[in-house]
This record gives sequence, C-alpha cells and structure tokens, in this order.
Amino acid sequence: MNYRRVLVFGAHPDDELVMAPAMAKFVSLGVEVVVAMMTDGCEGYPSAEMKDTIVEVRRQEQEEADRLLGTRREHLARPDMGLVNDKQTLLDTIRIIREVRPDAIFTHGHEERHRDHLATHHISLEAAWQGGEPVSTEMGEPWITPHLWYYKNMGARPADLIYDVTGFAHYRQLSLATQVSQHVLFGRDRQSYLDEAEKIKQENQPASASFWMTGRTALREFPEV
Ligand SMILES: [Zn+2]
Repeated sequence: MNYRRVLVFGAHPDDELVMAPAMAKFVSLGVEVVVAMMTDGCEGYPSAEMKDTIVEVRRQEQEEADRLLGTRREHLARPDMGLVNDKQTLLDTIRIIREVRPDAIFTHGHEERHRDHLATHHISLEAAWQGGEPVSTEMGEPWITPHLWYYKNMGARPADLIYDVTGFAHYRQLSLATQVSQHVLFGRDRQSYLDEAEKIKQENQPASASFWMTGRTALREFPEV
C-alpha cells in the first residue's frame, strides 16, 4: 500500500461501508481516508414520523461510523433521489478532490439501478478528470488523481484486484451496527450486527475486498504471473 490519501465516494450514508474493512485497514496503515458523501439520505426514513429528523439522525450515524473507522467526510448534501450532474455539483466535487489531493479515488460502478448511485458514478469520474485540468481554478489547484477504482455496483464482472483484509472483515458488521435508522430495512438490529462482528473477529478467517479498474486506471508494469 503506497497510497497516502484516498477519497471514497458514496451516494447515500452507508453505501461507503461496503468498503469498511478496506478503509479500516488503510487507516491502520497510516492512510488518510476521506469519504465524499453525495446525498443527505433524506428519503431513507422507514416510518413517516422519522421524515423530519432522518437527515440529522443519519448525520450522527455517519459520525459514529467515522469514529469507528478513523475516516473523515465531506458532505455534498444533495437531496436523496435528487442527485444530478449539474454544474454546481460538479464544481463542488472538483473542489473536494483538489482539497483532498487523493492518490486514489474509489467510487460506484455502472451496473446499477439507483439514480443517485449512477449519478455518483458519473459525477466522480467527470470530477476526477476535470479536477486535473487547468480549469475552474477558484475550486483549488488542479490535481490529477493517479488511480481510480470501483468498489461496488459492477455486476458479475470478476474483480481486478482482490485485496487482503484479513483481520478487518468484522468492521463491515461493526460499521453497519452504527446505522440504526436503516436496520429495519434489513430486518436487523444493532446487537445482531455486533454479535456477528464478534463471531467474525473470533474466527479470523482469510478475507478480501474486491475492486475493479476503471477505464482510466493504467498499469505501469506487466503484473506478476
Ligand atoms: Zn445508496
């Protein structure tokens, strides 16, 4: 791992937690991990009475996940189900990339049905490119992000990188335990996630995370055979 800073795009609060084991390992290796959260998750209220408080509740859940994983985050705070690749959103995303200056961006793939996931895919790729161009310099000094990876939404395509996260696998369940407002969607509760995390930690089986290369990831040497 020769990355110093990475930027992980998530459409909604908890999307990024697919990467929780890898993010926890990155942080343990001294990598700065920043999450760019595109929407506020305002549509993720499982009961009508939660509608007015869901955004604040999910903010607190994200803060708890950040404390657990050692990550920090930037909020684009676009409305859930209303994320579009408009000019201001692209500029705000470019600004985040130029502030973080990541060695790698991890984002959503294109095999996806949710409009916000697809929008995140398109916005992040476009901002990674435009962020490296000498344009819109009010948004910061141009920064060319060397590596771009997909971490989810790639359908059946085999992964290009199998990354060892042995010893960190249980961070997936620990991080999901923090997202209490969403548990009813999965028929789970906090304790069941914590119990599962403890079991995975105790068993300590080999574990891996899957990543896919984007069209803009270049190898500089033939891989080992
Ligand atoms: Zn989502």
